[in-house]
Amino acid sequence: MSLSIRKLVVIVLTVGIVILANLWAVTHWLDQAGVIEIARTAREHFLTGTSVAVITALLILLVNPRRARSGGSCPVCSSSLPRGAKYCPECGGRV
Ligand SMILES: [Zn+2]
Repeated sequence: MSLSIRKLVVIVLTVGIVILANLWAVTHWLDQAGVIEIARTAREHFLTGTSVAVITALLILLVNPRRARSGGSCPVCSSSLPRGAKYCPECGGRV
């Protein structure tokens, strides 16, 4: 994950935490603006598929880049393996 994407994730999470901290005021403001009714309609029609897609995208973003680059762990000694390794660099066991 590049630095700009990490910055974007931090900004989004910070805004999310601020919104959660002021949840009652935000909810009241959204209710006055009519957003609650729109959200209720959207939930009835779109929530299941949309939420699954968003959660899947977030889980993909949470993958550790070091782990994603590595080839897993050795079944013998559990040390991390470089991608494409056929033998463990620590114990020499065949992967
Ligand atoms: Zn090993």
